[in-house]
Formats: sequence, C-alpha cells, structure tokens
Amino acid sequence: MKNKNLCLDTRVTHSGRAPEQHFGMVNTPVYRASTILFPNLAALEAKEGAKLRYGRRGTPTTHALEDAICALEGAERALVAPSGVSALSTVLMSHAEPGAHFLVTDNAYGPTRKFCEFTLRKFGIETTYYDPAIGTGIEALIRPETRLIWMESPGSQTFEVQDVAAITEVARRHGVTTAIDNTWSGGYFFQPIAHGVDISVQAGTKYISGHSDLMLGTIACSAAIYDRLRETYLRFGVCVGSDDAYLALRGLRTIGVRMRHHHASGLQVANWLLEQPEVLRVMHPALPQDPGHALFRKYFTGASGLFGFVMKSVEHDALARMFDGFSLFGMGSSWGGYESLIVPSNPSVYRSATEWNPGGQTVRIHVGLEDPADLIDELRKGLDRLRA
Ligand SMILES: *Cc1c(COP(=O)(O)O)cnc(C)c1O
Repeated sequence: MKNKNLCLDTRVTHSGRAPEQHFGMVNTPVYRASTILFPNLAALEAKEGAKLRYGRRGTPTTHALEDAICALEGAERALVAPSGVSALSTVLMSHAEPGAHFLVTDNAYGPTRKFCEFTLRKFGIETTYYDPAIGTGIEALIRPETRLIWMESPGSQTFEVQDVAAITEVARRHGVTTAIDNTWSGGYFFQPIAHGVDISVQAGTKYISGHSDLMLGTIACSAAIYDRLRETYLRFGVCVGSDDAYLALRGLRTIGVRMRHHHASGLQVANWLLEQPEVLRVMHPALPQDPGHALFRKYFTGASGLFGFVMKSVEHDALARMFDGFSLFGMGSSWGGYESLIVPSNPSVYRSATEWNPGGQTVRIHVGLEDPADLIDELRKGLDRLRA
C-alpha cells in the first residue's frame, strides 16, 4: 500500500489515483473495456503477467478502487465484487472443500447464513453458528476440519460487538482463517486486519458508495491469502464494471466527513430515543449503557448511523400509523446512504445458537445526513401518531 504512514483521511484522499498517468486529471477516469489489445505478438504471448489483459480481470478504474480499498482497510490486497453478497460468497467459497466445517456468528447477515445453508451444505460443508459474545470460547467449537471463522461486528440487526482479537488469536493457533463482515463501520471506524483478521468484507453498497445508487462488494486481505481468494474470484467470473468502480471511488472520497456526521447525529437520535416511554431499549454500541460498549471502545473509533431499538409491544395498526406518516425516514432495504431510513425488523428468524427475544417490536434505523433536530421532530410526531 502506498502512503502507509499517513493518517486515514489523507490515505483515503490520495489513494487509487495517479493524475500523471491520466493527463493530469484528479480522478482515475472510467475505462470501459472487454478487449484489451496488445501491440505485438511478443506482448500478447507475455500477457499472463500483464496487469491489464482482459476486462473481466480489471481495468485501471477497478484497480484504482482496489488500491483505495487497501488504503481504507489497511490491507495489502483487495478485490471488488458486484455486490456485498458476491464478495461474501466468494470468500466463503474460497474455503469450501468436501467435509469442511465453518463457524459463523449467530448475528450474521441473513444471506450469509443462507449461502451456508443452501449452497455450501449441498457440497457437504457444515456450518456451526456461535454466540457472537463467545470470545475465546470459540476454541471449544473448532474441529480438525474447521476451515473458516466468520464474524460480523456489530451485527447489522442486533448490534452485538465481538471480541475480534480474542477470536483471531485462537484461530491463528489452530491454523483457521478468519473473515469479518465489516460493513457497519464502513472500514472507516474499524480496521479488522490490524486486529489479526485475515479477510475483511464489506457491502460497498452501503457506506463506501454512500449515495444509495450503487451495488458493490469489497474484499480486503493480506498478500498471503490473496492468491487463494483470487483463484475463486476468477473462476466464478466475479468482476465490477468501471462505471460502478468510478462511482465507488467518488463516494469513498467523502467517507470521513460522512461517517463523522453519521456518528454524531446517530448518537443524538439514539439518546433521544432512550428517553421515550415507548422505547424499551436502544441497541447502539457507542452508548455507555450498551452491553457491547467496552468492546466497542477497544476496537472502534466511532459509530456509523445504523442502530436499533425495541419498542414496547405495539399493535400493528399503530405501527403503520407511525411509519406511514414519515416523510424524512424512508422505508426500504439497505442503508449507508446520505438519507435516513427506518424499518421494523424481526432478527429472531435469523438465529439458531442464541435467542433474540427482547420483549417488543425491534426497529432498525439509519440516521442519514439530515439535521438531527428534524429527524427527532419527525420521530416525536411518529410516536404521537402511535399513541393516537
Ligand atoms: C447489505 C449487506 C450485505 C450485502 O450487500 P449487498 O451489496 O446488498 O449484496 C452484507 N452484509 C451486511 C452487513 C449488509 O448490511
């Protein structure tokens, strides 16, 4: 990685671009390509070693994005995929072999579990789900055939923080690869590779894009594990178009200012929610009373805008009155854009090793870049409609 000793904001500003190679242009342009021509037979015959040889294998634009992801995650290598699910399934597949065993945190993103249950299981790969709070207790679940430990911290539904270094330390002793879904932090507030994790995956769709108009996945890793990941990646034909890579680079340049704003506004809204009589509990690891707060402080430099809360049991009609009247909060999948979102959620359906039974309706909220005073006002009116 270039600029290794610079601060994160500086690295993210200066990585993945080379104006001197592009007529002085600040941003690496969109190179659309399938065919890439070679000037003579000797060059064609030497293409195995060429960085640019065919569109599926990358363009200057996608390579620039990979360099910028390395700078963001503090990684030696990166790969980009057409969605977060494509990135995570590439990583899972890279460690699949007959009879293999995977350990996956019980708060993992739903489609991660589905890939294990529907795809990997068909090929004889067994997955054990573990309590996200397991820490060094993971050791008791490791078998001779365990190939991968998958983490997600905090989980994007229930927001438990994992003791990442404790798990990676055990994994290393047993020669087991570790991977983490790092989407929540955007790679900005948490650098898993510095804590011993082998592979950090993100839905670049969320904070890297930041504008709710792009599907993207990122895989950041050490040089040691890169070849293995790239082998699977190439065999499946995973690649990203240069227009999308360009959009991702454009979003990434402002990740620092956006994340700091999400952090401050998210906490303001979370603190307001804490005081509402309808709210039983707020799941936000940056709150001192959150059970994950000590681990949060150990690993994270800030919080994103995504968190949850539990409302006292509520009639469905009342919930609809509250939600249907929102105009600033949108209802829809995903998060990480500049705008706020709210959805009711039911995390219990994605669990098997632990129970999620918080005693009321779980809600997930993404606090965007609006003024938090307006968001709080809208939530206040929403609770008024709920009571009406
Ligand atoms: C959205 C999401 C993904 C999947 O990303 P897509 O780009 O939608 O495929 C993976 N992990 C987490 C935690 C997510 O929120």
